[in-house]
Amino acid sequence: MLQKKNVLVDGVILNGPIMDSKAGEKFVEDAYKIIMEEVIQKADDVTQKVCEWRAPETLKQILDLEMRDTGESHQKLLQLCRDVIQYSVKTSHPRFFNQLYAGVDYYSLVARFITEALNPSVYTYEVSPVFLLVEEAVIKKMIEFIGWKEGDGIFNPGGSVSNMYAINLARYKFCPQVKEKGLSGLPRLALFTSEECHYSIKKAASFLGIGTENVYFIKTDDRGKMIPEELEKQVQRSRKEGSVPFLVCATAGTTVLGAFDPLDKIADICEKHSLWLHVDASWGGSALISRKHCRLLHGIHRADSVAWNPHKMLLAGIQCCALLVKDN
Ligand code: PLP
Repeated sequence: MLQKKNVLVDGVILNGPIMDSKAGEKFVEDAYKIIMEEVIQKADDVTQKVCEWRAPETLKQILDLEMRDTGESHQKLLQLCRDVIQYSVKTSHPRFFNQLYAGVDYYSLVARFITEALNPSVYTYEVSPVFLLVEEAVIKKMIEFIGWKEGDGIFNPGGSVSNMYAINLARYKFCPQVKEKGLSGLPRLALFTSEECHYSIKKAASFLGIGTENVYFIKTDDRGKMIPEELEKQVQRSRKEGSVPFLVCATAGTTVLGAFDPLDKIADICEKHSLWLHVDASWGGSALISRKHCRLLHGIHRADSVAWNPHKMLLAGIQCCALLVKDN
C-alpha cells in the first residue's frame, strides 16, 4: 500500500484533515445539550424570564467579545454558548408579545437544524436535489391557496425584497426595454398603494429609480382599508399630471391595523386601467389557510403577484418569505 506523503505548507498539512473532527463532534454534542436544556425546554416555562436585560456596555463586558489571535478552549466556547442564550430574548416564551412571534414550532425548528447541518444552497439541482423539490412543492401549495391555476415563485430575504421584486417585474412587463435602456428610456411611472401600506413600497420606489414622489398614497377608511373610489380618482389624477400608471399594491394585513384591502374591487380598477396588481400579503397571507378567515383575501386570485411571509402568522422560522407570480 502506498504511503501518503504529507504536503506541508507554512506548517499546515494541506492533504490532511483541517480540523480535529472528534473534538468538533464532541463540541456539537455538548452544545446541543445546552440548546435543548436552556432554549427548548425552557421555551414554554412562564417562570423563566423573557430576557435577562443588561445595558450594552455591561453586556459587552459579560460576553467578552474580543476576537483574539489565539483560539478558545472547548469549555470557554461552551460557556460563550450559555452566555449568548442567557442574555438573548427568548422569542418562543409565552410572554414575549411582539409582532411575528407566537411560540415555538418544533417541526420548523428541526427542519432548520437539518438545513443548517447540511448547509445547502438551492442554486442547482446537483447541489441541492431534495431542497429544490421541497421549494417547488411549497411554492405549488402556496399557489393553490391563492387560487391560481399555475404560477411560479421564489423565496427572498424579507417581504420588503419580495415587494421590490414585484414592482421590478411589473415595470419590466410594462416596458421591457428598461433592462437595456435603464431609466433613460422610461416615462414618469406612477404606482398606487394605500396610506397604511408597509414602508417597503416607498423604499422600493426609491431603490428602483421610480422616485418616492411617484408613489400615490390612497386614502383608507376608518378600519385602514384602501378606498377603491379614491384609487380610481388618483389613477385619473396621475394621468392628468403626466404620469404613466403601471402598478397598484394592495395590502392584505396592514402592519399596524391588520386591515385587508378590498382586493376584488381593486382588481376591477386594475383590469379597467391595465395595471399590474401586487398584493402585499406578507403579514396576512397565512389567513388563506384558515377556512374561517380566508374570505378576508377574497379576490387575491386576480393578483399578478403576491408577497407572503409564512414566518409571520404561520410560525415558520425567520426568514421564510415568498414572492409568487401568476405568469410562470
Ligand atoms: N409588508 C407588510 C404588510 C409587513 O407587515 C412587513 C413587515 O412587518 C413587510 C411587508 C416586510 O417584511 P420583512 O420584514 O420580511 O421585510
